[in-house]
Amino acid sequence: MPTHSSLSPLLITAGPTYEPIDAVRFIGNRSSGRVGVELAKAAIEAGHEVTLLLGPGTVAPPKSLERQTGRVIRFQSSRDLERLLDEQWRGAASTLIMAAAVADFRMPAGSSPAAKLERTAAGLSLQLEPTPDLVAGCCARRRPGQRVIGFALEPAATLAERAGEKLRRKGLDAIVANPLETMDAPEIDAALIWADGQTERPGRNSKPAFARWLIQRLARTTDADA
Ligand code: C5P
Repeated sequence: MPTHSSLSPLLITAGPTYEPIDAVRFIGNRSSGRVGVELAKAAIEAGHEVTLLLGPGTVAPPKSLERQTGRVIRFQSSRDLERLLDEQWRGAASTLIMAAAVADFRMPAGSSPAAKLERTAAGLSLQLEPTPDLVAGCCARRRPGQRVIGFALEPAATLAERAGEKLRRKGLDAIVANPLETMDAPEIDAALIWADGQTERPGRNSKPAFARWLIQRLARTTDADA
C-alpha cells in the first residue's frame, strides 16, 4: 500500500453545538467531544500539526495545543462553526476530521429574542430551520489533495447502510461508522468506511486507542488507495 512520506496538517472539529433560543437558553446535545479531543492528542503525538475547533461544555483540549496561539478555537453554535470552517478549511490543513455533533436544527437568523423569554401559561412553540450541512460544504470546497472524514452515529442494525449513504450524499472520503449504543461509553466499536466501500474494523477499543488507530490509518493511506 502506498504511504504518505510527510505528516499532513489536520483540522479536527469536536463537541456539540449549542443553538441559542433566547439570551440565555440553547438547544444542545450530549456530545462530550472526547473522541475528537483524543484524535487531536493522537495526531499531536504522531507529529501532525493540529488545529482543533472545539464546542462548548466538552472535555479539556490537549494542553500542548492550548499553549499554541490559534490552535484551539472554541465555538458555540453551528453558525460559529460554519464561520470557522470557512476560514480554516482555506488554510494549510489537508485533512478535515469532522467529529463535531452539529445540530440539525436552529432558530432562523434574527428570530431568537435578545432578551430572556418569559414563562407564560400558553407555553412556547419554536419554529426551527435546518442547519446547513457543514461537512458537505467542506467537501464541495475541497482543494486537490484535501480529504474529509465524517462521522455517523446510528443504531447498530442500520449503521453500515446509513453510514454508506451519508458518505455518498455528503461527498466524504471516508466515514467513521459509530453505533449509537456506544454513546457515552468509555469504549468505541467503530468501522472506517472508505468511499470505494473498503471497510476497516479495529474492533472494540478505548477511545484513546481508537483515536491512535484512526490517525495511523489516515497517515498511512493516500487518496489513491482510499
Ligand atoms: O447527517 P448526520 O448529522 O448524521 O452526519 C454526521 C456528520 O455530518 C458528522 O461528521 C457531522 O459533523 C456532520 N454534520 C455537519 N453539519 C450538519 C450536521 C452534521 O457537518 N448540519
